[in-house]
Amino acid sequence: MGNYRRQAQFFFSTLVVSTTTALESCPISHTTPAATTIIMPQFRAVKRVMLKPHKHWVGDAFNVYPVFADLAFKEAMSPLLMFDYAEPKDFGSKLGQPRGVGAHPHRGFETVTIAFQGEVEHRDNKGNKGLIGPGDVQWMTAGRGIVHEEYHSPHFTKNGGTFEMCQLWVNLPKKHKMTKPRYQAILDEQIPNVKLPLGAPEEEQLATVRLIAGEMADNRGKAKTFSPVQMWDVILPKAGAEVEIPYPADHNCIVFVRRGGVEIMSGEEGKGKTSKLGPQDVALMHLDGSDIIKVRVDRPGTSILIMGGEPLNEPIAAQGPFVMNSHDEIRKAMNDYRAGKF
Ligand code: MN
Repeated sequence: MGNYRRQAQFFFSTLVVSTTTALESCPISHTTPAATTIIMPQFRAVKRVMLKPHKHWVGDAFNVYPVFADLAFKEAMSPLLMFDYAEPKDFGSKLGQPRGVGAHPHRGFETVTIAFQGEVEHRDNKGNKGLIGPGDVQWMTAGRGIVHEEYHSPHFTKNGGTFEMCQLWVNLPKKHKMTKPRYQAILDEQIPNVKLPLGAPEEEQLATVRLIAGEMADNRGKAKTFSPVQMWDVILPKAGAEVEIPYPADHNCIVFVRRGGVEIMSGEEGKGKTSKLGPQDVALMHLDGSDIIKVRVDRPGTSILIMGGEPLNEPIAAQGPFVMNSHDEIRKAMNDYRAGKF
């Protein structure tokens, strides 16, 4: 998956290089003659809200919202690069040939595909094959180079039904960009379900956090990553619930609404501001020192993704299916691919 249009044009399009770094850790501080006091906000604040963008097609299978908009491939999202979400869509039955994206290369990052409804089949030139269905995740490390294809599964193609999934691109640190390609299949039943508030009896639980990657309390997601990454699928069934979600203070944080709606409460209890998010809206959170994200659930059956990680603070050179640190490395990736070295 990924941005197919970018992919199709990658030999022609202009190289994007971003060297911006995220120097924004700025808790409010004031100095007194006696000491320096750092006042941290109680709840992590929203830095920017990006509203639901327009959809486009990736191949003929994935009708996606590129939800990071103009912040895709920017340090502000690091280590995340890009995020495509395909909302529930009924493909009917008897589709004929499987729909999808044919063989294409990647280098320098990881693709993470989460299936919510329907099935996707993956196949690559390193001999990996995988089928993921509802609740499953595939975490593919392109590393030094892989060529893969992504299609609706034969079963889904034959029987049809509703299809919903997302694909996230996670950057690799400079020192791991040329690592050996790797494929991790993470099945629904292997993903820890953490209930919030932590330790609350069942009748007082307000949220289920499916930890795909990263950690919360003593729980750890199964995905192996090359730098600290959080990838949480958060289910918020109760409208009106106010939920405090612990999240590492020094990690970039992005909140995406898959369905339903939330208000993110920033700053201090009772006097901070509130940001309202609906389906496919995204909030980029400040790195303000706070380690709690507070949300109020607006609609029953709400589901959000909370994701991010430790910023890499390295230059990002992205073109088509390659994400490296410099122009030269992108050129080398193109040459290596053309020369059949992937
Ligand atoms: Mn791909």
